Amino acid sequence: MRPCRAEIRTRALEDNYRFLVRQAAPHAELLAVVKANAYGHSLAICAPALVRAGAHWLGVTTVEEAIVARALCPEARVMIMAGISRGQARAAIDFQLTPVAWEPWQLDELEAAARAAGAQASSVPIHLELDTGMSRQGVAQRELAACFTRFGPASPLRLDGVMTHLFAADEADGQDTQAQLASLDEAMGHISAEGLFAEWLNVGNSAALLAGQAQPIAELAARHGMKALLRPGLALYGLVPRFDPSFAPQSEPPALNAARESLQPALTWKASVVGVRSVPAGATVGYNATFVATEPMRLALVCAGYADGLDRLLSNHFSLLVRGQRAPLVGRVSMDQSVIDVTEIPGVEAGDEVVILGAQGGENITAYDHADAAGTIPWEVFTRIGPRVPRVAV
Ligand SMILES: *Cc1c(COP(=O)(O)O)cnc(C)c1O
Repeated sequence: MRPCRAEIRTRALEDNYRFLVRQAAPHAELLAVVKANAYGHSLAICAPALVRAGAHWLGVTTVEEAIVARALCPEARVMIMAGISRGQARAAIDFQLTPVAWEPWQLDELEAAARAAGAQASSVPIHLELDTGMSRQGVAQRELAACFTRFGPASPLRLDGVMTHLFAADEADGQDTQAQLASLDEAMGHISAEGLFAEWLNVGNSAALLAGQAQPIAELAARHGMKALLRPGLALYGLVPRFDPSFAPQSEPPALNAARESLQPALTWKASVVGVRSVPAGATVGYNATFVATEPMRLALVCAGYADGLDRLLSNHFSLLVRGQRAPLVGRVSMDQSVIDVTEIPGVEAGDEVVILGAQGGENITAYDHADAAGTIPWEVFTRIGPRVPRVAV
């Protein structure tokens, strides 16, 4: 097998989940976000590991992902966080999924499919998303009243949860989050006034949890007779969200500090050295000769390129690990290969393991390092690791 693979430490994932449960307790329960193939970490590896660690809820993007999650984890609640697409309502019901819904047509299709399936009154759980400021998914406050009739006593649909998404939980001042929670509180007031009851208040990502929002969210939920459900993703995979601006040391939320000590990155992306060559001063490397050897150098060819997810913006701007040392990427990253400078690293030879992301020896390359070098965020770094890179549980 081509030795470019992502190793997933399921033990780290399980420990991370249990750590986050402790941060949420006693205020909130957790939904483990495993969308986008578990942030590129493999749904097939991660979903069962998280369920082993105690997860009752899994969150995916699509019905397609949800059906896979259902097969892997027959007992879990599986939430379709980006809602159904047209024609998918029946699958959501047959596979006992929990759709997030906000568009009138989604509720129409779900209700019709539930009736066609012979579903009993209030038997199909729906999480109604409210738009509290992201203008992405969710019912606008002024259109909320039109949704109430959907959940009458004769409807097969049950308002199981009310959901919203915090768009700035990683901003240390927390002002946007406060405003969103206030708007949620107001909407919940209208919902309760209609005599509607939802079990779950479904809100808050990794940053919200680690910034200490579980308690205020739980208080809001309790005011409306609900339970709080938070939805961490990134932290499960062992990354601590960055806050902007970062908290002053004296106001650092305790969970954030604990997270830095406890969360362990679950993924290590490895490749290997295909061969080593010595080149004279003046030799050019890669497409368009963007690197020219300034002296006699030793170069190692690595079997990973941009088709594997190694961002081309890293060309001449990043280092990989070999023999526990940092070896600069020289020349342009190619589709399937890249070249590192191992002049200063004795003994490098064909077959040596190269770490693209993760630890080797005393060195470590994080998803933040990749993200900073490529002008993006760790979420994108993980989800762009290509489908041809096998994910292997270790
Ligand atoms: C991705 C996502 C999350 C998880 O966010 P993290 O920042 O990775 O913790 C939570 N809720 C929704 C709706 C999401 O799309």
